[in-house]
Amino acid sequence: RISVCGSINMDHVSYVRVAPGAGETVVGQGFHESVGGKGASQAVAAARAGGSVEIIGAVGDDTYGLLLRSSLMDAAVGTSGLRSIAGRTGMAHIVVDDQGENAVVVVPGANASMTGLTKVEEQRIALSDVFLTQLELPMTVVEAGLRAARGAGVKTVLTPAPVLTAPLTQTVLDYVDVLVPNIHEAEVLTGEPYPLKAAHALLDAVPEVVITLGADGCLHLDREGLPLWIPAFNVAAKDTSGARDTFVGAFTVARMAGRSVVPALRWASAAAAIAVQGQGATNAMPHRAEIDRLFAG
Ligand code: ADP
Repeated sequence: RISVCGSINMDHVSYVRVAPGAGETVVGQGFHESVGGKGASQAVAAARAGGSVEIIGAVGDDTYGLLLRSSLMDAAVGTSGLRSIAGRTGMAHIVVDDQGENAVVVVPGANASMTGLTKVEEQRIALSDVFLTQLELPMTVVEAGLRAARGAGVKTVLTPAPVLTAPLTQTVLDYVDVLVPNIHEAEVLTGEPYPLKAAHALLDAVPEVVITLGADGCLHLDREGLPLWIPAFNVAAKDTSGARDTFVGAFTVARMAGRSVVPALRWASAAAAIAVQGQGATNAMPHRAEIDRLFAG
């Protein structure tokens, strides 16, 4: 089983030719709502990829909270550990222009109400096989989740996004088995703009690193093997939001199923390549059979 602790947002995505400036109104070409937030996104990705998944996080007691809970259940994500708190559900307002550039406002709402984990939540984590988390919840929660996992011998995967203004402490990194930064985060964390140098630097802190490089694929390094570069699948990307969450979810499921690193990275790249061809963070995330099809070529 996979436990995911992280943010849960209702994404409101508007498509415009040019994003409005201050005091300006523009007419959009389209709109959709989708399940978002890195916690919910990784949970949906892993469940679609065939994993048995439960989420730990919080939604508000508004209609979006109900909608997100039922959307997560529809995606076969276990929600018995999902808190409903008095107040608003996390919200992201996203404006995408016709260059594919986006501008985002996130209002954390219920996500910010999570400042620690209950004993029951820690037990859920301790009873899982792999624990996934990111940095959209307060650091106290991230650390508590990682500590609970490590204390029970549960494998931990940290996606260090959004990029930090303060450095990740070694206390937190000590609990991490696999770190999956994108190239920007890897540079912020290490000061190294070159992926290979950054990966080597990160290996001082954690035993396994995957740096994602967008359309340039990903770089994997652990303490046993040589660096591996896996190219991305060549597809026409429409919306890359959720690409890495899809990648992390699928990579985790593949590794748990016993695949070795190279096929697991390729399978995760195939999943992410399918996700970027559709719109929205979770709407276009693929099911296992679709991933298998692209993987098989
Ligand atoms: P993030 O969006 O979080 O910065 P990346 O852009 O590095 O993450 O994407 C994560 C993974 O998704 C990449 O390693 C790659 O496998 C896949 N991916 C991202 N963009 C594309 C693309 N344009 N075409 C194909 N695959 C992509």
